[in-house]
Amino acid sequence: MLAAPGAYADWVGDARPLMGTEVSVYLWSDDPEAGRQALEEVFHEAGRIDELMSTYKDGSEISKINREAANRPVVADDELLELIQRSLDISVLTRGAFDITFDSVGQHYDFRERQRPDAGVVESKRALIDYRLVKLNSRAGTIAFGRDGVRINLGGIAKGYVVERGIEILRHRGIRNAIVTAGGDSRLLGDRRGRPWMVGIRDPREDGEVAISVPLADEAISTSGDYERYFEEDGVRYHHIIKPSTGEPATGVRSATVFGPDAVITDALSTSVFVLGVDDGLTLIGALPDYESIVIDADGRVYYSDGLMQPDQDPAE
Ligand code: ADP
Ligand code: MG
Repeated sequence: MLAAPGAYADWVGDARPLMGTEVSVYLWSDDPEAGRQALEEVFHEAGRIDELMSTYKDGSEISKINREAANRPVVADDELLELIQRSLDISVLTRGAFDITFDSVGQHYDFRERQRPDAGVVESKRALIDYRLVKLNSRAGTIAFGRDGVRINLGGIAKGYVVERGIEILRHRGIRNAIVTAGGDSRLLGDRRGRPWMVGIRDPREDGEVAISVPLADEAISTSGDYERYFEEDGVRYHHIIKPSTGEPATGVRSATVFGPDAVITDALSTSVFVLGVDDGLTLIGALPDYESIVIDADGRVYYSDGLMQPDQDPAE
């Protein structure tokens, strides 16, 4: 087949504001026009998922669930039910560190407006953070809440889902080298044509600086940080990752990175490790053979999961 004039194999990419963050796609295509069509399809898919899952849109299915599920079971889309089910499974795995009902308290934060719930609100709503209050009936295709005031929010897992769906689209189109990123979540397809992708983990306190670079191919990587959405008040950093047991922002960690085969899982696990802290977080990751983690604690110290340990760091030696 003859290529059109000017059409030659190349990298194509774009980044757009979506899902309250930036979604970017970068891919190698033998045919740049086909490559650009593939980009469009990924952005379109991200927009579709955002419409379904954003709690900031009154018309989204999730907003309807939040309005009505305490009164009666609400019929929901299969795709949404499946992601909620995966979220509930991860709550069991992490003993509640990951919990989409964090929003029962989390909804009272507005980081842009520097608003936070006062101690009384946290105290009275804290018991509503409990994933067991979400009743998913897969046969009926419904969600119901066990108590009034429960709210769910998929902010800790939906970006990973977008990334996973994006890579699936690209793969179907025959693309073999790509990176899809949504905020702190990325998934790599293949390598960077013969070299690994170098994925940077941000320095949590130096804007724009990379703390650690990780060579990766064919994997997903997610970072949760206390610098993404936050404000400071009297020296306290109020940020967007809520510890379910307290209803307050989790302390002890500045950033938690997880990598492994599935971006939905790395997304949820990075949030979980952030909540669990260095010791419990790395113990959890140690029990999952396909997943590894890098954690930066509140003093800037860096910790690696066992599978990443270099031989000269082996405590047995
Ligand atoms: P980001 O890439 O935005 O840093 P994260 O994966 O760290 O994303 O997820 C943070 C988001 O997860 C928060 O903005 C909120 O929507 C949601 N979240 C906060 N705390 C929890 C929690 N304990 N369990 C599940 N989701 C949470
Ligand atoms: Mg996450």
